[in-house]
Amino acid sequence: MSGIVEGKRALVVGVANKRSIAWAIARRLDQEGARVALTFQGERVEDDVRRLAGELTGGPVPVLPLDVTDDAQLDAAVAGTAEALGGIDILVHAIAFAKVDDLGGRFMDVSDDGFRLALDISSWSLKRLAERVDPHMREAGGGAIITLSYVAAERAVPGYNVMGIAKSALESIVRYLAWDLGPAQVRVNALSAGPVRTLAARGIPGFGDMVDNAIERSPLRRAIDADEVADAALFLCSDLARAVTGETLHVDAGYHAMAI
Ligand code: NAP
Repeated sequence: MSGIVEGKRALVVGVANKRSIAWAIARRLDQEGARVALTFQGERVEDDVRRLAGELTGGPVPVLPLDVTDDAQLDAAVAGTAEALGGIDILVHAIAFAKVDDLGGRFMDVSDDGFRLALDISSWSLKRLAERVDPHMREAGGGAIITLSYVAAERAVPGYNVMGIAKSALESIVRYLAWDLGPAQVRVNALSAGPVRTLAARGIPGFGDMVDNAIERSPLRRAIDADEVADAALFLCSDLARAVTGETLHVDAGYHAMAI
């Protein structure tokens, strides 16, 4: 397999370090011929993201600051990517955030502020990014937007709490965006990944049990890794998926199909 996204220009949001799912996707897109731009959220991770950007081979990688709660940074990150790469064909949205207090414990104890913050960063940011990349994708004659979800969008996972609601909203936003952007041949899809050990995952109480459960109860009887999510992302971002939109594709060793 080679070059299935040759010449495509991708904005990848959500790289924090080498374990990030967004990093696995950026690397895969780069290997298959895409030009990639990365963003970083805050100075804390800037050096790591710049170092990782240096590992990509498809030409100079724009690295831009982006906190998705900041409209000016959203505008600048999208405009800066389009200028540096000559347009945008692909958007990868791989971010999520919730206050520690709103994960674990009882869902009933989630605070009003915590709900608003988690939904704003983890779900609504997809719409805010989509409306900014849409003109560039229209200009290119179409495009692909993908985001990252989890099975807790569809079924209750005790302790995942406010993030479960955020992922349900995210998958719904995918369907509404697919309808609105479809006439311009902009496709919008989600990947529902099984548990992967990343920075964000470390903040989820009981994450180790989630992995053990997934191994025991998945048809494939094993965990998945970020590279497997990246392969599915590559498919969704490529013309091989040209008739796929509004979809949530599970990359979870089949866990979602079970009721045990
Ligand atoms: P990760 O490496 O920690 O990535 C999460 C990213 O979200 C980080 O880059 C983080 O930046 C960013 N972020 C948080 N708040 C932000 C904000 N206000 N503006 C911009 N970026 C912000 O963890 P990950 O597991 O790869 O997560 C990527 C996506 O996959 C998330 O949507 C997650 O829910 C989803 N997912 C993960 C798993 C799993 O088991 N790991 C399973 C299914 C779905 P900072 O770190 O700098 O704050």
